[in-house]
Amino acid sequence: MKVRVRYAPSPTGYLHIGGARTALFNYLFAKNNKGQFIVRIEDTDLERNITDGISSQLDNLRWMGIIPDETIDTLGEYGPYKQTERLDIYLKYAHELVKNKHAYYCFCTSETLDKMREDQTADNILAFQYDKRCLKLDDKTIVDNLQKKVSYTIRIIIPDDKIYMIADLVRGNVEFKTQDLGDFIIIKSNGVATYNFAVVIDDHLMEISHVFRGEEHLSNTPRQLVIYEYFKWTPPVFAHMTLIINSDRKKLSKRDGSLMQFIHQYRQEGYLPAAIFNFIALLGWSSHEEKEIYSKEQLIKLFTPKYLSQAPSMFDPQKLLWMNNQYIKQLTNEQYLALVIPFIKTKYNWSSNSSEWWAQMLIIYQPQLEYGAQINELVTLFFKNNYQLEVDAKTFMKENYCKNVCTTFINKIVACQGWTNENIKTIINEVKVETKVNGKLLFMPIRIITTGQMHGPDLVSTIKLLGYDTITKNLKLNFKK
Ligand code: GLU
Repeated sequence: MKVRVRYAPSPTGYLHIGGARTALFNYLFAKNNKGQFIVRIEDTDLERNITDGISSQLDNLRWMGIIPDETIDTLGEYGPYKQTERLDIYLKYAHELVKNKHAYYCFCTSETLDKMREDQTADNILAFQYDKRCLKLDDKTIVDNLQKKVSYTIRIIIPDDKIYMIADLVRGNVEFKTQDLGDFIIIKSNGVATYNFAVVIDDHLMEISHVFRGEEHLSNTPRQLVIYEYFKWTPPVFAHMTLIINSDRKKLSKRDGSLMQFIHQYRQEGYLPAAIFNFIALLGWSSHEEKEIYSKEQLIKLFTPKYLSQAPSMFDPQKLLWMNNQYIKQLTNEQYLALVIPFIKTKYNWSSNSSEWWAQMLIIYQPQLEYGAQINELVTLFFKNNYQLEVDAKTFMKENYCKNVCTTFINKIVACQGWTNENIKTIINEVKVETKVNGKLLFMPIRIITTGQMHGPDLVSTIKLLGYDTITKNLKLNFKK
């Protein structure tokens, strides 16, 4: 069977983590099966579309490495790939259903429908259903209305008390009853198809074989199955993926400001696409191996719907930070500098130091950097006006042995000839030999008197990069004999 899958975003918002996961699983499945991955733009909800919706979806998918084989700017044989360019197609199929008595014109006004809704509420009917009154219209009334250009919608006839079943790749066999569906609208009064109708026509015409989508679409599935049945088309295989939840076990909500939820935000903050790809692949899927770091190629090779999770998957921003750091550590110096320099330039005056100095300084933070923008918080040590001791450092310096380590170090460092990493390292080594103190106990007092703080990046490089003048100034400030 030819595998063709699609990600079908509505451009009513930017690329969200949930959407990115849907796209990613479809993509992995397609590539694992040497199939095609299509991005179809479902833009029929005209009022809700936003200006940058389409470009945000496509640009950010491509940034992540999820490259469509067919979409609005990479045409294949199955276009157009934007639903507003397919409206005539939907009308043609809708009229075919009307002709075959599977659908009908509904001339009810919004006032009539409001009244119907009120009456049903008064009768304690919870889920509104259209009462089929236009199904009973005689042919003459219909023809008259159409001639008079009375506004209409097209509704599909939902069979009574039928049961549909799908073999969902995540949930197994799922049964749906038709009784609560109601004759829903497939063409709105402005002539535009509704989602449930357009999606079926497109999935069929685009020969979509499998549909991986969020579980919020499960309730739409029976509506879509009715349409497949009327046209005698085979539905695709469905996989409804479970929710993504936050650490409070609540469904991720686009309105929740406590968590970055859009891919462009991670991109702007200097997360790496390969890390985001890897992280999102593990939201609701696992390889059943004892590891978490996977390249795109490995994920393509390993992906199987068998391991899609049945339980909600937790979005843990701490884990993402950890993972991003794993990827940052693997970058070459050049790649790393290309990541952090644009951030540095937003806050610091690049021309205040040589490029060589900047490169050496930035590289000492590579092992700990979690995301690009974080660099500006990490490097503050090099841009302080005041290197006075932090409180904890003061307490530490009361240890008796510190005096000896510090005096020995100071005597040597102020006399240092040739300010290189090598020479500074040699000096610290000599202090070690002469004082017989080593490890953390050796480094801590030296770090404190040279930088004022107890923690920081590689000590030798830090001393070198702060420079002779700053170091000797700090020593005077922070160490009294
Ligand atoms: N356009 C729908 C959405 O954005 C996709 C529906 C589907 O995958 O069937 O949620």
